[in-house]
Amino acid sequence: MSEGVYGEQATGRVTHGLLRLSTAMRSHAWEWAYGAQLTPTQVEILVLLVQRKGPMRLGEIARETALTAATTSDAVSTLEHKGLIEKRRAIDDGRAIAVCLTARGRTTAKRALQWPHFLSKALDTLPDDELVTFYRTLLKTIRQLEVQEQMPAHRMCLSCVHFEASKKPKITPHRCALLRLSMGDADLRLDCSVFEEADPLTQKKSWKIFTT
Ligand code: SF4
Repeated sequence: MSEGVYGEQATGRVTHGLLRLSTAMRSHAWEWAYGAQLTPTQVEILVLLVQRKGPMRLGEIARETALTAATTSDAVSTLEHKGLIEKRRAIDDGRAIAVCLTARGRTTAKRALQWPHFLSKALDTLPDDELVTFYRTLLKTIRQLEVQEQMPAHRMCLSCVHFEASKKPKITPHRCALLRLSMGDADLRLDCSVFEEADPLTQKKSWKIFTT
């Protein structure tokens, strides 16, 4: 691809860099999935189920993975056929169906958590302060994509009702009132199992403090 194809400004160069990263990630994801006789979509669903530690409905899986209902349903049926997940009645609604991992599915999902290792290894070479700045930038970019409805909402600290943002996290850490945790920027969670969504005004306030 020619230099500057996404523009000569920083935005264009960062966009180009992120797209190159996504190419490397897609290639590694396919390689791992192919070795496990799965597709990257099926791997993503297994990993989501192991992260959530419990049954999920099809609609929830589709929302979290940004897949269509039809693609989700196909992938889930294949995973069920392979004996990696099973369907059950949802706990909170006997008419609805939820899916969960079988023991074999859990083992495969835990192995699948290793495929992004190549990326962690590269990130590990960065100095701590650069890594924290990178994480802050990622969080802000994810938030912006959520606001633009280009990405599903994350169960992250900055959008959580229990979060108390600090203006100077290096001096006074952020706080999680629920877990009574002090948190630096690098400790902020992107997918927390006890997350509770804050109202829009509270979220806006937390993000404002975080970004100023
Ligand atoms: S409950 Fe979880 S998401 Fe909410 S502030 Fe605490 S650690 Fe963060």
